[in-house]
Amino acid sequence: PVVTRFAPSPTGYLHIGGARTALFNWLYARGRGGKFLLRIEDTDRERSTDEATAAILQGLTWLGLDWDGEPITQFARKDRHAEVAYAMLASGKAYKCFSTQEEINAFREEAEARGSYAVFQSPWRGADPSTYPDAPYVIRMLAPRDGETIIQDEVQGTVTVQNSALDDMICLRSDGTPTYMLAVVVDDHDMGVTHVVRGVEHLNNAARQQMVYDAMGWAVPVWAHIPLIHGEDGKKLSKRHGALGVHEYQVMGYPAAAMRNYLARLGWSHGDDEFFTSDQAKAWFDLAGINKAPARLDFKKLQHISGLHIAAGDNAALLHELQAFMAAAGLTPLSAAQSALMEKGMDSLKDRAKTFPDLLDKAQFILANRPVPRDEAAEKALDPVSRGILRELTPRLQTVNWTKEALEPVLTELAAAHGLGFGKLAAPLRAALAGRTVSPSVYDMMLVIGRDETIGRLQDAAA
Ligand code: GLU
Repeated sequence: PVVTRFAPSPTGYLHIGGARTALFNWLYARGRGGKFLLRIEDTDRERSTDEATAAILQGLTWLGLDWDGEPITQFARKDRHAEVAYAMLASGKAYKCFSTQEEINAFREEAEARGSYAVFQSPWRGADPSTYPDAPYVIRMLAPRDGETIIQDEVQGTVTVQNSALDDMICLRSDGTPTYMLAVVVDDHDMGVTHVVRGVEHLNNAARQQMVYDAMGWAVPVWAHIPLIHGEDGKKLSKRHGALGVHEYQVMGYPAAAMRNYLARLGWSHGDDEFFTSDQAKAWFDLAGINKAPARLDFKKLQHISGLHIAAGDNAALLHELQAFMAAAGLTPLSAAQSALMEKGMDSLKDRAKTFPDLLDKAQFILANRPVPRDEAAEKALDPVSRGILRELTPRLQTVNWTKEALEPVLTELAAAHGLGFGKLAAPLRAALAGRTVSPSVYDMMLVIGRDETIGRLQDAAA
């Protein structure tokens, strides 16, 4: 069975690249009846914070990337990591190194003076334990010095690393804490991880990590190092590109399903399919479809995909997600009456809306209270002649059936009686109902807010 994991370091928010990594792991596992695990890599005690962990969990939750079981905390497993370091020591795959930092520096300086970059070679490698001093030591891996380590990567292909380029990496520091490189392997092994899908910046670590697997006689997972994400300008992502945190996308009002769709396409593709549901992505996602070249952010595409998801969304679910968006964005929550009207009008509201703020903007006529505030164009549209027409209209609305079919002839006949096209009548009606001249259709608004509210607004505007 497939087991994947997402292993963020809790040193900041969940950024767009991390979210994409999590998504790929989630898709791969969920599409195969496997497990998707979460591991918080908090071994850097200085930089790890609880706030960052909370922000990462919040971001994953918003994106709907549910993980199996409780998140694993790496630091809490330090005794287990030490145990493995000592097991490697006991089996002769590692050794105690008593070299001081000064000695290591001196070794490097000498190598530099010779004009060669040399990896540190500890004099304690192969030393007789009876010669060990009573002094602090680190545990280093007895790494092969000859030959090569070959990484079979599902995305990057076959990557060959000369063993002579790698030092005997430290597994356990002199204070007894594990190094990151050891901890990752021990945790992935203990968690039963079968596929390591992560950013290409970790490809260099894979060779060293593979040596630990080999030293312990553990099965090496399938590696898949996924490409970087670049900004719209094709340059490596940085603060200057803006909107790097997933939370920012939530606050901009993109539906989570749209975000998953968009993120999935950053570095992965399924033919020319642009819009897909998460169920389709789970069924289609495969490591073979991941590109090697860096992916590029494209906000226009995100907007487009987002609009498609809003248009295709289930009305009740959209309303629910809209309310969550409003809470995240710090907006005043909808009243029960407003929510009911929103759901009633959702078919028209979601038409051409690309984000939740778009949707709210179209819902202005629902959110506004009498007297409806008017923008400049609305004031202009309500000239004396138009007000007169509205005054004529209101009594006719008292008894007509409140359906589009019944309302339509009332409005078109009135317009015709004044020698106007319907558009000329629509402008003051929009102004009266929504306080602006750009809004959903007049009928949609009238049907959503109902007869009494419609008449009230027309009277306000005609006064
Ligand atoms: N903690 C690492 C990071 O946040 C991930 C390491 C891994 O996936 O193996 O970049």
